[in-house]
Amino acid sequence: MLGSFSLQEAIETPLWPVVALALGLIVGSFANVCIHRLPLRQSVVTPRSRCPHCGAAISARDNVPLLSYALLRGRCRHCRAPISVRYPLVEGINGGLYLGLALQHGPTLRTLALMAFVTALLVLTLIDLDHRILPNVITLPGIAVGLAASLLPGPPPPLSAAVGAAGGYLAFWAVAAAYRRARGIEGLGQGDWKMTAMIGAFLGWDQMLLAVFIASVAGTLVGLGLIAFRGGNGKYALPLGTFLGVAGIVVTFVGGPVTTWYRGLLHG
Ligand SMILES: [Zn+2]
Repeated sequence: MLGSFSLQEAIETPLWPVVALALGLIVGSFANVCIHRLPLRQSVVTPRSRCPHCGAAISARDNVPLLSYALLRGRCRHCRAPISVRYPLVEGINGGLYLGLALQHGPTLRTLALMAFVTALLVLTLIDLDHRILPNVITLPGIAVGLAASLLPGPPPPLSAAVGAAGGYLAFWAVAAAYRRARGIEGLGQGDWKMTAMIGAFLGWDQMLLAVFIASVAGTLVGLGLIAFRGGNGKYALPLGTFLGVAGIVVTFVGGPVTTWYRGLLHG
């Protein structure tokens, strides 16, 4: 049995940043499986991963994060078909995020919760980019874990997390309703609401609003850029969840200082 107390002790080692990086790489490897299989409603546990080209099962030694990709020079051991560079990229990014969180927050349970959060955002970002869906199987447990984690020491306080979760959902419901009335089409999916609620549950209402703001601005700029370069009438549906995911990760790291600065502007 790992009680929360012994878990706390287990992560309080001088090697904590190294442990965090290794954990991030391993979880990043699992994130690749989730990104690939969750939209297809396949199990993320079994069967073992296979080469999409020749179907050969990928052995444990060829499944070491980053290292295997480098040793195999990005090709399948059996058929030499190229492996997407996205696999090592996701592993590396997830490892870097965990290292960053470990250095920024130290060895706390709250840090572990934030690690789960950024991986969930990374997975949602890429699933939305590929399929334009945000699976409930990530967002709904995400909201619950975020609310539970707000009971741990450290920001946000539970009330802010609860308001963030409810507010994220309500804010998007209002925006979607207005959008529907104005343009007669569905602008925002249900998944976007739940993903925003998850961000609110983990980061609190103020940082949730900051993430939505950044995602909206980035989405608008990229949308205008696409119209400028590709032409067209702007009906190309941008994956809002992808922008929300990236914005949520950015705010996880910089949201504290930014909201403190903003409050200083209001009160100073
Ligand atoms: Zn192969």
